[in-house]
Amino acid sequence: MRDYYDILNVDKNANDNDIKKAYRKVAMKYHPDKNPGDKASEEKFKEAAEAYSVLSDQEKKNRYDQMGHQQYQQFGSQGQGFSGGINVEDIFNSVFGGGGSFSDIFGGGDIFGNRGSRQRNSSRGNDLKITITLSLEEIFEGTTKTIKIKRWEKSSEQPVKCSKCNGSGEVRYVQKSFLGQVVNVQPCSSCSGVGYSGGRIQKTAEIKINVPFGVGEGNFMTLEGEGDKSITGNHNGNLIVYFKEKNHDLFTRSSNDIYIDCFLSYVDAVLGTDIKVPTLSGFVKMKVPGGISNGQLLRLKNKGINELNRHRSGDQYVRMNIIIPSKINNKTKSILEDLRLNLDSETEFKKINNE
Ligand SMILES: [Zn+2]
Repeated sequence: MRDYYDILNVDKNANDNDIKKAYRKVAMKYHPDKNPGDKASEEKFKEAAEAYSVLSDQEKKNRYDQMGHQQYQQFGSQGQGFSGGINVEDIFNSVFGGGGSFSDIFGGGDIFGNRGSRQRNSSRGNDLKITITLSLEEIFEGTTKTIKIKRWEKSSEQPVKCSKCNGSGEVRYVQKSFLGQVVNVQPCSSCSGVGYSGGRIQKTAEIKINVPFGVGEGNFMTLEGEGDKSITGNHNGNLIVYFKEKNHDLFTRSSNDIYIDCFLSYVDAVLGTDIKVPTLSGFVKMKVPGGISNGQLLRLKNKGINELNRHRSGDQYVRMNIIIPSKINNKTKSILEDLRLNLDSETEFKKINNE
């Protein structure tokens, strides 16, 4: 697979200057002005900008080198969030100096589909959202999920421009209010905001999703171009995959740490013992020191979940609960009676501490 170094045709040890030079070379070669209407060149031109945006930024470059190409593309672009929109034009201008007719060529805007600022565009396919539910084990190890989604794709028939909205997919109307005139923009009712009729067909697509380890609720990943396909252009919608965590019957997750309760006899609590603790990576031996108290947390270092995008793990905490049996047999009773005589412990009273 081509990585950013291949795209710019530079060595992994290239310095900033080499990388800049390499980008200039590729960008000049594939600039849309030089290759009008050539989609392959346009793709390469965008690719080069994307590669340069990462390799020219030391922090991003480090992360990229650590994660590798595929993982970085899916997750690396901005911390916990994903898919950083980059602006090809800005990158080009930063290296070549601004101005020019560049934005006209691409119709302006953000080619990589910056979700926040994207304008409605009927030639663009809609973004689709799905949620996948993962078990804690799947989150711990990372997994691959194959999902089925229904999406619109191009059909063999020609789309017909909607006469009501003239293909824009939206209808504007002016409303008078006490603030003055208010322009309302709404999806066209005639074509449901598509801008065209016909030319599309709903299909079920099977999509493989590589879920990295360490994801959590609220994380999502964007699969570029896997949403509704554009009927009239090349701007396919994205598929945004949200993650949900299944409740585990043994472990509780808090951030990247795992918590579990352990129930221990008071004899073991006083004398100490060795126990085998279930973890996400199997049973682990743990020494319980003598004199443990109720509610105390013992830590199993690095037995939690690997942090997403980082080489760091959470821990597992084992909470000690001392069992006081409600019934004991006569033999135990007599042993404890003897023990009481030996201990000569006194009953104490203290103020309740609400801290
Ligand atoms: Zn319409």
